[in-house]
Amino acid sequence: RRAAFAQMRGVAPVTADGHRITVMVNAGLRDDLAALDLTGADGIGLFRTEFQFLVSATLPQREMQRRLYKDVLDAAGDRPVTFRTVDIGGDKALPYLNHDEDGEEENPAMGWRALRLALDRDGLMKAQARALIEAGAGRTLNIMFPMVSEPWEFDAARDLFEAQRAWLAARGRKMPTEIRYGAMLEVPALAEVLDVLLPRLDFLSIGTNDLTQFLFAADRAHPKLALRYDWLSPSILRFLKRVTAQAQAAGVPVGVCGEMGGRPLEALALLGLGIDRLSITPAAVGPIKAMIRSLDRAALIEAMSAMLAEPGRSLREGLEAWASEHSV
Ligand code: PEP
Ligand code: MG
Repeated sequence: RRAAFAQMRGVAPVTADGHRITVMVNAGLRDDLAALDLTGADGIGLFRTEFQFLVSATLPQREMQRRLYKDVLDAAGDRPVTFRTVDIGGDKALPYLNHDEDGEEENPAMGWRALRLALDRDGLMKAQARALIEAGAGRTLNIMFPMVSEPWEFDAARDLFEAQRAWLAARGRKMPTEIRYGAMLEVPALAEVLDVLLPRLDFLSIGTNDLTQFLFAADRAHPKLALRYDWLSPSILRFLKRVTAQAQAAGVPVGVCGEMGGRPLEALALLGLGIDRLSITPAAVGPIKAMIRSLDRAALIEAMSAMLAEPGRSLREGLEAWASEHSV
């Protein structure tokens, strides 16, 4: 089976009824870059820039950051890369950032992390912005902000990047041909003001790992809560369907970059909601492509609408039955 998946490398993820799905990979280290060619993925949909910070004993200097980002873009070639600005803080505390003086956190996942920390400690984000803009010289640069809870946070982060762009341009540096800015949707509150945010976005990426834990108030890593953190429960699926439709209606590209998309039945559910952009763990690309190619997407969308109209506790059984009836 492994060999069969490797042969999927050169095969496009097109459904049996002719819909092209974009399948990208999640990455975070130089070692992950080989996965692009091995899997034949469409690009990197989520590059977790905090990994470089987490594996380092001291704060990575701007030049080190720039070199990593340049290597990532070179490895990707013509394929798009989306860099996520640092998602540190909370349980990913860095010893060299003196979190201690800010006090222990009782709920680190919903604490001072990601964009919240980056906007407060903006020296960190300014250095990262310069490193990214310099690395992106001559190409399109896709930047995405994690844990956006309100539109003003997105505006502040984009303004910070634009100020760094102007600063570098004034010094005659070669610029990216275009910078595209996106937000991650992982805090449920953002969905209530999506109409306000969408016109400002170049793309939206749904982080279902955090989104699910916040939607259910269930820790994503707690073994006793695993049954209460179900990606196939009607509430998360209805939520995803609503925000996806809203983004698509506004003409904003929308995809999912959480681990959910790398599991065949969960990925099936996402496709059945009308989602057609996935960024997943590299090992899942072969199996997910195979699933996509066997799928009648239009029939699935119809079947899932019916399941979501009168749902039981989970759509797992219904989706399993549908998949085996339709030889997916
Ligand atoms: C997510 O929350 O779904 C996500 C992709 O980000 P991370 O797993 O890095 O928190
Ligand atoms: Mg997240």
